[in-house]
Amino acid sequence: MLHDRDPISAALHDAFASFGEGVLLLDADDGILAFNPAFERAWDLFGMPLVRSLTFFENLEAAAALGRAPADAWLAHRRAATGAECCLLGTAGGTTLSISETQTQGGRRMIVCRDITADRAREIALKENEYRYRLLVETITEGVIVLDRDRHIVFANPRFISWFGGSDMALLGRPFTDLVLPDSRQRLDPLFSPTLPRSVEVPLACGGGEVRFVLISAAPLRGVGGVPSGQFAIITDVTQLRLATERLRQSEARFRGIIENTPFGILSLDAAGAVVTVNPAFRAIVGLGQGAIVPEDATDWLPDAEPALPAMMARLAADPGLAAVNGTSRLKRSAELGHARIVLSRIGEIGRGFLLIVEDITEQRQMEEALRHASKLALLGEMSASLAHEISQPLNVIRLSAESALLSLDDGDAEAIRAKFETIGAQSDRLRETIDYMQAFSRRDAGPQKSFAIGTAVDAALALMAPQCSGLDIALVCEKPEAVLVALGHRRQLEQVLINLLRNAVDAIVERRTLQPGPPDRITVALTATTGRDGRRIARIDVSDTGTGIRPEDMPHLFDPFFTRKTEGVGTGLGLSISLGLMTGMGGRITAENRKDGGCRFRVVLPLSDQPVDEEPPARPEPEPTPTAAGTMPAMTILVADDEPLAAQEIAAFLKRDGHVAITVGSGKSARAALEANHVDILITDLQMPDGDGLQLIAETAAEYPHIGIVVITGQPLRDRVALAELESGVDAILRKPVSLRELKTTLRRLV
Ligand code: ADP
Repeated sequence: MLHDRDPISAALHDAFASFGEGVLLLDADDGILAFNPAFERAWDLFGMPLVRSLTFFENLEAAAALGRAPADAWLAHRRAATGAECCLLGTAGGTTLSISETQTQGGRRMIVCRDITADRAREIALKENEYRYRLLVETITEGVIVLDRDRHIVFANPRFISWFGGSDMALLGRPFTDLVLPDSRQRLDPLFSPTLPRSVEVPLACGGGEVRFVLISAAPLRGVGGVPSGQFAIITDVTQLRLATERLRQSEARFRGIIENTPFGILSLDAAGAVVTVNPAFRAIVGLGQGAIVPEDATDWLPDAEPALPAMMARLAADPGLAAVNGTSRLKRSAELGHARIVLSRIGEIGRGFLLIVEDITEQRQMEEALRHASKLALLGEMSASLAHEISQPLNVIRLSAESALLSLDDGDAEAIRAKFETIGAQSDRLRETIDYMQAFSRRDAGPQKSFAIGTAVDAALALMAPQCSGLDIALVCEKPEAVLVALGHRRQLEQVLINLLRNAVDAIVERRTLQPGPPDRITVALTATTGRDGRRIARIDVSDTGTGIRPEDMPHLFDPFFTRKTEGVGTGLGLSISLGLMTGMGGRITAENRKDGGCRFRVVLPLSDQPVDEEPPARPEPEPTPTAAGTMPAMTILVADDEPLAAQEIAAFLKRDGHVAITVGSGKSARAALEANHVDILITDLQMPDGDGLQLIAETAAEYPHIGIVVITGQPLRDRVALAELESGVDAILRKPVSLRELKTTLRRLV
């Protein structure tokens, strides 16, 4: 039939043959009537020909028997005879076919077979996409909503719903604007503008009265033909971010407040050290007006920084573990040059810049200076008081003896006169001792160290303090070993240290007993020899008292200069600091601790020396030169230079009595003139004189007149010792004021 020659049949045949979908026509008994090439291609799937002599059912069974899986499915479908589409999976190629079978006229059937592989793939891709989007919308940490044209909520994702109590019932259909706090609703307007999508931040009134700050980004949705159909919005919860920003803002404001209100100058410097900003306090310190431009170089204001600023920066840059570097500097203030304490630290990591804190300590320095001055005055007062006491005693004796010698003159009692003058001489020695004490205490440079018996210094200090202690009814106990303990240093300094400790102990006991009269009032001085931690032999002198003890908070400051708890005018706060200095100068130390049963104990530790005790300086009276010895002295010309005429005259009279020629001068200049005009054998000179001091005269005399013997008489042997040491070769003897004529005579005899 299909091969009929009439043109309609031919056209139908052509259409049938070229039809894109496979078509198979079956008779009422399932016999194959016709099929087009598209069906043939589809059948190729089974890898076997379609046999026309068999029914289509038998063809399918044959294919199924050969193990072609889609044939089974097709068979099952035909047996079920539902007429619905059935999908047949292709072989390796993955082709998907859609089969439909329909009844036609005369009980015939038509099977249409369509290749839907591409459609199917599209459908799967679409489903996958939809699944992905749904997953995204449901699991995204942002809220997602869709609004209709009237801005009512038509969709909300689980995250958004969770902010409102977990159910969408209350949300869907609600105007979105209702969710925003009333004051902020106006801010939503730009969000719904038809132009570009915008973002706005608004507070949302969420479930349970909670307010969340959210950032809403919206985009318009368009329906068919681009007609606006609503809005799609992504809502980000920025509450935490906002709180953190707020906290940051507050802390920034706090820091700014600190920087702006602090009395310290604060400068920020860049990594190269150039000044970037300065705070108001710094402007005020250096007198830089608010509007004035800040110079780049901090050293303009901080000349002579110690360490120098670049060195401080280098240290910080080199050591990441170093938090800050401290220093001091002169500070160019508005009117004058002051002092500053400076601290440099890094801003952030290395290389980002520096923070320089400048503390103006000019006033503090001035106060310290004033305090030091006041303390010096107080010390001077205290020293003057004790000096006055120490001097007035021998002076009194000298005066009494001199007057009584005068009276004895009238009686012609030579023996009595001699005795009086000897007393006067001895008391002069005592005066010199007192002056030595003061010098030993006030000067560290006390000349070369000597080995001395520690016990002697302890005895001397105790002897000095004993009258005061007994007057105050304080027991003074001393414990000493039999053996002589020798130390290297200055005996008088140790004496002064012990006297200071004893005075402090007395003060502490007196203070304690006014408050608490019970315990015994006792000071114990115990000298012992022991072995130190380093194995060296040491002497310990413990001065223990039953006084107030030391407040724990005072302990670290005890040895600080000017630290005192005593009332003004009584304490200088210098005693312990000077004492510590003196002891460290001898290689020793002083420590303090409170005693368990009240009061405290100061411990002086000194290294012991193996050397024998050195000879004490000649404080003892010299033996009277015998007349024969005196007689053997040749007559000499002696130049006496002293700006104190009485002293010069006395010495000259004494020399003349011994048969010498004595020339007296009162200044360095007249001494030089006398040396030029006379042949001088010996020069006796003071060190401090007008018109060129003694040191200069000595140097010139030693250089120009090497034959002249030089004897120096000075009232300040300790201060001048260093200078004199330089002239040692030119000086034959040094005598200390008050000088003894006997001593002078012995010295002159040695020079001849
Ligand atoms: P000053 O005696 O002039 O105050 P010091 O340097 O000698 O100066 O002493 C400093 C301070 O140490 C005293 O003011 C006192 O508070 C405390 N101190 C020293 N010795 C004693 C002591 N034995 N008992 C209690 N406090 C003491």
